[in-house]
Amino acid sequence: MMNKEDIRQRKVRLGDLLIEAGLISDAQLQRALLEQKRTGFKLGRTVVDLGFIDEVRLLTALSEQLNISFIELKHFKFDKNLVQALPEAVARRFRVIVLSREGDGLLVGMSDPLDLFALDELDRLLKTTVQPAVVRESELLTALDMLYRRTSEINSIAGELEGELKDSDFDLSVLGADNNSEAPVVRLLQTLFEDAVQMQASDIHIEPGDGILRIRQRIDGVLNEHVMKEARVASALVMRLKIMSGLDISEKRLPQDGRFNIRVKNHTLDVRVSTMPVQFGESVVMRLLDQTHGITSLDAGGMPAQMLVRFRQLLQRPFGLILVTGPTGSGKTTTLYAGLSELNSPQKKIITVEDPVEYRLPRINQVQVNAKIDLSFTRVLRAALRQDPDILLIGEMRDQETAEIGLRAAMTGHLVLSTLHTNDAPTSAMRLVDMGVEPFLVATALSAVLAQRLIRRVCENCRETHVPEVRQMVWLEALYGASLSGRNFQRGSGCNHCHNTGYSGRMGVFELLEMNETMIAMLRRNDPQGFADAALSSPHYRPLAACALDYALAGLTSVEEVLKVCVSRTDEVLI
Ligand SMILES: [Zn+2]
Repeated sequence: MMNKEDIRQRKVRLGDLLIEAGLISDAQLQRALLEQKRTGFKLGRTVVDLGFIDEVRLLTALSEQLNISFIELKHFKFDKNLVQALPEAVARRFRVIVLSREGDGLLVGMSDPLDLFALDELDRLLKTTVQPAVVRESELLTALDMLYRRTSEINSIAGELEGELKDSDFDLSVLGADNNSEAPVVRLLQTLFEDAVQMQASDIHIEPGDGILRIRQRIDGVLNEHVMKEARVASALVMRLKIMSGLDISEKRLPQDGRFNIRVKNHTLDVRVSTMPVQFGESVVMRLLDQTHGITSLDAGGMPAQMLVRFRQLLQRPFGLILVTGPTGSGKTTTLYAGLSELNSPQKKIITVEDPVEYRLPRINQVQVNAKIDLSFTRVLRAALRQDPDILLIGEMRDQETAEIGLRAAMTGHLVLSTLHTNDAPTSAMRLVDMGVEPFLVATALSAVLAQRLIRRVCENCRETHVPEVRQMVWLEALYGASLSGRNFQRGSGCNHCHNTGYSGRMGVFELLEMNETMIAMLRRNDPQGFADAALSSPHYRPLAACALDYALAGLTSVEEVLKVCVSRTDEVLI
């Protein structure tokens, strides 16, 4: 194999190498060199950009001519500790990543193995023999994002800030009032948000502990913890965040809530902040709403195709109540916004009453409930109905009064959309009755209930066949209503792409219950059991867990996730 000395001695130039291999013509090389002068990009990228050669052929040629390996990083199993042997800044600057031990030295992936400066720098920093391999630049950059995270950067800024805070209490002018972006606390926050965006976290938790600071991120619904020993940093962070979200910094004994917008890595985040006094200071939780992605469409939510057709028909009705139900974080709001944006047209007046307003939608009149000035759901709803709406979205049916106004509106020529904290569709109608609403009102106004959950997707990169345990299989077959022998299930074994969780991203699972004559009769009679029986035997009804099982059989999710849906639905442990 060739090493960097050979490269150096042969003074290999990419242009000559490509011509020698007959991959580009002399004229093309001249053209590329001219273009390169203009853009300043490397020659390799330039010939690819100009369409003279595709990236894989270029890299294969490099690998053959230099007698080094061409490694696809997409499926490469990295050794995290080994990767960290090279500081992140160097890795990014020279586009290199440490791959594995190679004899006494290290095998290093490079997007440009002819880069002598990079080879020298690697030599100096790694103090060992470096054997280059050629890798795709795009895959390299993705790998760097996944492997380095911002963890070390966060630790080093926190250390710096801790040092500043040692002698005195922190200086307000440094921490908040000015916009000095060099201040460590500002850089620390910026880095925290960058890491959260990179990890697609939905929440950041800042929790002061006994002599430590715990920072946790919720990713795909699961918390990931990062503990720092710089405990003093916590109060500085909290103070800065309180200033940013317009909260009272002197009030540390009462919970507060606020919000701010921040721009990170070309993403606009709407950040909801809530503080709470705990034993070692104030805990701050930030919910991150990425406004960059906008509203996802109903098609992208994971709803089975046939159900989607029926749900769209329901949305087209001029009146009636459609409830979307599920626990917090089950994606109800996303579904409702997706539905609303399909209905959004100049011919329809749409008013939403929300707490909080999560996404801003053009043309739609969105009202934020505000308890502080006595602007309650019911008060806004009454006002909204005098504004001649066609469609009304009520953030949540919290109490009897809200529910009754919503149901009456649904009876009198308005399409009403709302949410309810119930586990499944059949219990939702009876829940309204339990809240004190007249059964006849529910029977007349309710058109359908959509229950939903978010389940995690199996990581594409480390998926493997999984054979469920016997007792799980018995249970899955009961749910499926038929034998599942010979059917395959998948799970992720854990890799760098999914941070060893075996999952990457989430999707919705749904059950849709449309009201029919029998159910309406049972509701009027206030017969919960009769209603449940009628619901379960209605023609299109298919329970949430069955929807999740379909996705498991399609290899999209794991058996574990299916069982989780079942447990949350019945509130009893099944396995
Ligand atoms: Zn994985």
